[in-house]
This record gives sequence, structure tokens and C-alpha cells, in this order.
Amino acid sequence: MPELPDLEVVKDILAPRIVGQTVRGVEVNRVGLVRTRAEGVASLVGRELHAISRRGKYLAFSFGSDLHLLVHLMRWAWLWHGEHGYPPTTATDLRVAFEDGTDLRLIEARSPRLAAAWVVSDLNAAEPLQNLGSEPLLEAFTVDVLRGLVAGRRRPLKRVLTDQSLIAGIGNAYADEILFRARLSPVRYGHTLTAEEQEHLWRAIGDTLRWAIAEIRGRTGDDLFEREIRDFLSVHGRKGTPCPECGTPIAEILYDGARTNYCPRCQGGSGGIPPRGG
Ligand SMILES: [Zn+2]
Repeated sequence: MPELPDLEVVKDILAPRIVGQTVRGVEVNRVGLVRTRAEGVASLVGRELHAISRRGKYLAFSFGSDLHLLVHLMRWAWLWHGEHGYPPTTATDLRVAFEDGTDLRLIEARSPRLAAAWVVSDLNAAEPLQNLGSEPLLEAFTVDVLRGLVAGRRRPLKRVLTDQSLIAGIGNAYADEILFRARLSPVRYGHTLTAEEQEHLWRAIGDTLRWAIAEIRGRTGDDLFEREIRDFLSVHGRKGTPCPECGTPIAEILYDGARTNYCPRCQGGSGGIPPRGG
């Protein structure tokens, strides 16, 4: 599933290609994709794309201040941009045709197809964005904000980091990377962190996300990608490979139905609850 770094790069690659373009046609090929009134997509025709922004794991395509297409790629969907004449596959859920002869397509080649889109007039009032937590790369996300989120929270750090209502945009992969960088166990409870550990965690969030954006961008150049680029990660998806810091094999636990990877040595100290399983 794309997370904040992936979506930031998608946004930055797409913006110079399609911002300023006028929509010439919209085609929705999957019932259930558009969660607002389905006929709302027709209102995009004739409108110029002014900006692309990201909020949490959502991308917003803004056609002026009063019309926005909001997209969530969920697990498998990705965005494609290219020539209109290029034959669409049956996996193409949404096709936005621009006057320059290109298409933006939302493609979901695996089942279940879960991606969702909304056409809204007021982005700030858009229902899916209402319960999102802090944006971790904004200046407003200070160490004190993070302290407020973890202090007193009797929940494992992995769950705190991936809770979209607390911090928006971090998923399974980058939560693991952040906790590795902070040298904190994923099963450590938020309320047990010392002030110093809170600061390490806060710093690791920003550093990890910025590092990932640069790594992904370095690999893609100006080309869109159809699955997340994760070859540079230190622990996530690296079960059994040596920890880049200490050489201990990276461990894996199934946690809330998702894989959690960590270094038992680097992330086991500081009075944390020792991770179990393997
Ligand atoms: Zn290690």
C-alpha cells in the first residue's frame, strides 16, 4: 500500500505533467469506485487542474477552490499518465482525459479492488479527511505534538504510528523503518517512553520520511511507478537478513494481520517489552 513517501513522489511527478491541463472527458469503469454521487465526475469536464496535494494517504486533484477529485489508492491501485490512444486494460477503474491528448488513469490490477474516489466542492469538509491526524512533515508537527500523542497512550508504538487519526500517512512499512531508526521496539507501549525517547521517535519520523522520499525519487526520476519502491528499506520486508547496524537477523512478527519487522538487538533495549515470536 502506498504511504506518504510514495504519494509525495507520485504527486511531484504528476504535477508538472498535468497541472494546467483542462479535462476533456472522464470515464468511470468500476461501480463503487466513486463514493460521492457518481454523476459528480461529469462536473470535472471543461475544468482546469490547478493543483495536486496530499493529505494522509489521499491525493487531491483540485480544479479551482470549488471542485476536487480525491483519490485513495488503497492496497493495489496506482496512477498512470500517458497517451490517450494507449489501449486501457480491464483493470482501468478511472480515466481522466486531458485536452493535450493524455490520460490520467487509476489502475487496479488485483482483487479485491478497493481504491476509492470522491468528487467534492469543499476539500476541508470532505468526509474522508475529517478524522485524519497530524501531517508529520509539517512544521506544526513539533516534538510536543508527538509527546501528546504517545504520552499516556497504552498502545504499542507500531499501532500509534499507523493510526491515521493520530498521524496521517504512515503505514506498515514506514512505521517499521521509523521505529528502527528510533531504536524502539514496535511492541513498546507509548506511555512507557522517556522524554528522550519521545524526541528520538519524533526525529526518526521526519528523518525517515524525508529520506524515503529522496530515495524513491532518486530511483524513479520523472517516471511513475506501478508498485512501491522499497528496495532501500532497512528492516521492513527484510526478515532474516542482517541488520544494517549490528548484523543480527531481522525478526518478523504478525501484528494486527500485518508483518512487522525489527532488529531484536537494536530495538530490544531501553526497558522495552522484548518482542516475542519470530
Ligand atoms: Zn541491529
